[in-house]
Amino acid sequence: MNIINPATEEIITNLEEDALESIERKFKLLREGQEIWNLVPLKERISILQRFSELLKENIEQDASILTSEVGKPLQQARNEINGACGRIKWLTENAEKYLADDLMTVEKGMTEKIVYEPLGVVCNISAWNYPYLVGINVFIPALLAGNSVMYKPSEFSSLTGLQIEKLLKLAGVPDNAFQTAIGGSEIGEALLHLPFDGYFFTGSYKTGKYIYEKTAHKMVPCQLELGGKDPLYVADDVTDIKNIAAGTADGAFYNNGQSCCAVERIYVHENVYDQYVEEFIKEVKGFKLGSPTEEGTYIGPLTRKAQLDFVESQVKEAVAKGAQLATGGKRAGRKGYFFEPTVLTNVTHEMSVMREESFGPVIGIMKVKDDTEAVKLMQDSEYGLTAAVYSASKERAEKILSKINAGTGYWNCCDRVSAALPWSGRKNSGFGATLSIAGLRAFTNPKAYHLRG
Ligand code: NAD
Repeated sequence: MNIINPATEEIITNLEEDALESIERKFKLLREGQEIWNLVPLKERISILQRFSELLKENIEQDASILTSEVGKPLQQARNEINGACGRIKWLTENAEKYLADDLMTVEKGMTEKIVYEPLGVVCNISAWNYPYLVGINVFIPALLAGNSVMYKPSEFSSLTGLQIEKLLKLAGVPDNAFQTAIGGSEIGEALLHLPFDGYFFTGSYKTGKYIYEKTAHKMVPCQLELGGKDPLYVADDVTDIKNIAAGTADGAFYNNGQSCCAVERIYVHENVYDQYVEEFIKEVKGFKLGSPTEEGTYIGPLTRKAQLDFVESQVKEAVAKGAQLATGGKRAGRKGYFFEPTVLTNVTHEMSVMREESFGPVIGIMKVKDDTEAVKLMQDSEYGLTAAVYSASKERAEKILSKINAGTGYWNCCDRVSAALPWSGRKNSGFGATLSIAGLRAFTNPKAYHLRG
């Protein structure tokens, strides 16, 4: 399997993909190792995973440069991702004892009732490339903490990072028979669906997630899906600091080149502040530095996948053909690599793909609305339900709007953020089940009810 640098289109290296036999061998190892890993006291598992976090930090320059070389994200954003991952590991490891310990529910009249959080067993984690550290650790850290062994399949577009993760986990003390990596593309992912795992945890597109859900349903094991989004953001007419709001929301739309599951993908602006907001927003976007991801100061690097260039380009063309106005950008950058100019479209409608289908690139549509009711109607008009954001001077107004949106996360005066303390979950085509928070720690367990008389 060739690993390509999306900024230069050069082959970085060639990796040997797993084959059916090696996957089966790894699975057998994980099956044998799971009970042994589960016998390691939780405190020790916690300190091993904290050591992993220290190793990530100690090697941050190497980790970041590997990540940038294969996914193309600007080096500083790669460092930010690794630091963010360490923050999540901190929360998960510091809260594992509290939320994975047995819960004593009742003790009365000779009857004790308690819940024991048993590991699922051997779990399979099929992962995405856009934030391989963050989306990976959302799954394999709590899974390992809870006493599961893990087969981790990084995306074929972030395999070197997957191997780096494996190397550091093993250095930290995670045994070989508790963690294995499956290297390859969709065929290797497919092979994993045929093995008797005790749970499937997927991060990726709706299309693949739906397929995996259908394929594994007959196994009667948990299947959790963290999928894409078309996340809306509404700017109400009582906002004051429009310049800062425009800057913050442009970052929410264009950070990581728009390749974030919770990137702002649609913007609705109250007519009273529309002109000013759009002007400031465009100014901000025009100031983004597009360039080599290894150059300090670059904000827009290449897209990770060549295929996405075609998709983003087709969305822009379709929107313009249907009457959208191109405020800035709109085409591939004239240089080698998978670069696309940061693009802002106005005069868009919900008849256009750019307002309906996940762009997962540096493109955003902005639409004028006359009031909150119209904003809610449009925000709700989507098959996805990951996050939604409202910018307003009033918390009550924002919460009222957010309560009407069928999404897993609501933001007031912020966007495109994830907290380890809160559940990360989608609704509708954005998936189901939660990672992070108490829910995400317990997602890798089977609660057993004990009724103990005596
Ligand atoms: P993808 O669906 O193309 O691939 C994801 C993984 O599935 C890869 O490892 C791939 O090899 C594997 N795969 C592909 N076909 C398979 C098959 N038939 N059987 C088993 N495995 C298979 O997604 P991607 O391009 O890697 O990721 C981008 C998508 O992920 C976007 O939609 C993004 O929004 C979403 N995402 C969601 C979250 C979230 O938390 N909700 C986080 C990050 C990314």
